[in-house]
Amino acid sequence: MTILVTGGAGFIGSNFVLDWLRQSDEPVINLDVLTYAGNLENLASLDGDARHTFVKGDICDRALIDSLLSTHKPRAIVHFAAESHVDRSISGPGAFMRTNVDGTFTLLEAARAYWGSLEGGAKAAFRFHHVSTDEVYGSLKPNDPPFAETNPYEPNSPYSASKAASDHLVRAWHHTYGLPVVTTNCSNNYGPYHFPEKLIPLMIVNALAGKPLPVYGDGQQIRDWLYVTDHCSGIRAVLAGGTLGETYNIGGWNEKANIDIVKTVCALLDELRPSAEGPYSRLITYVKDRPGHDRRYAIDARKIERDLGWRPAETFETGIRKTVQWYLDHPEWVARVQSGAYKEWVSKQYS
Ligand code: NAD
Repeated sequence: MTILVTGGAGFIGSNFVLDWLRQSDEPVINLDVLTYAGNLENLASLDGDARHTFVKGDICDRALIDSLLSTHKPRAIVHFAAESHVDRSISGPGAFMRTNVDGTFTLLEAARAYWGSLEGGAKAAFRFHHVSTDEVYGSLKPNDPPFAETNPYEPNSPYSASKAASDHLVRAWHHTYGLPVVTTNCSNNYGPYHFPEKLIPLMIVNALAGKPLPVYGDGQQIRDWLYVTDHCSGIRAVLAGGTLGETYNIGGWNEKANIDIVKTVCALLDELRPSAEGPYSRLITYVKDRPGHDRRYAIDARKIERDLGWRPAETFETGIRKTVQWYLDHPEWVARVQSGAYKEWVSKQYS
């Protein structure tokens, strides 16, 4: 048996591949086009491991996907590949429509043809697992209940609109063609290998460099945070036991205001790597808010907990400490990501 993972060189995808191969010997075919966010160095510990096959390629390339499916005959596709950064979606939405909408469409069509060619047990076992976000539900007011799977979709950014569109395509391919799909909508992830444009790694990296810690608006935007390997275990649980055609919200019941996240990171750095210049919180700098910035996201994770017995292993306190420590222990990873050196390495490997 084999699974096909898309976007497995990105933040969550690479954590998923590493976590999968720690828990099982089932091989992974990893299809990733290596945008700025894809980093094969995340998977360096798998060099020479026959269970991992990396394929540099685009999910919009139907011929490539057809050939991967017919060659490797995976029992599941776990679809992470996406453009994922909200700020980038505001300045350049085109890439988000192409990868998140067209790419998902291409993958669904290839999966439909492949699944149609399977028979018996292989056909019954096949799954298309679509990895999505809680941002499709829009923004909550302070006293609203957290997002349940039944909440209407109200995406507000080009990123969340493109992910909402992809979720709808996946749903339609199940209802119209019977494709065996499951979808997970997860809250904000954090942990190792997170590209330093996102809030938590940006704060760690800037603080260590003595640079300003930019906080949008009043910093009171609330997000629900989940340690990345807990997202991975949620995906495994849904892939193994989720009901076909259903969606599952994954979250850690950890609502935090952005400013409190930044202060927590500063306090951990003060403890683990004190600065001669004084507390890192001195670097906090409020900047103009992002247009259309959603105020609050929160996940009601009761369905996956009740139906599949999933629970996160980390609390926010244990997860954020591990994360800060990981960045302190891997300055060379940060330096190479920032310098683009790993891109040069990849272009030599795959040119
Ligand atoms: P990421 O940006 O770190 O990684 C995305 C990966 O997809 C990269 O390796 C990139 O090279 C690859 N990719 C992009 N376009 C591609 C294409 N056309 N063909 C093949 N590969 C392509 O993103 P992430 O944070 O790891 O998110 C992964 C998935 O999880 C996304 O679908 C995202 O919407 C979803 N998600 C993310 C979060 C979060 O907090 N980061 C939360 C919930 C859901």
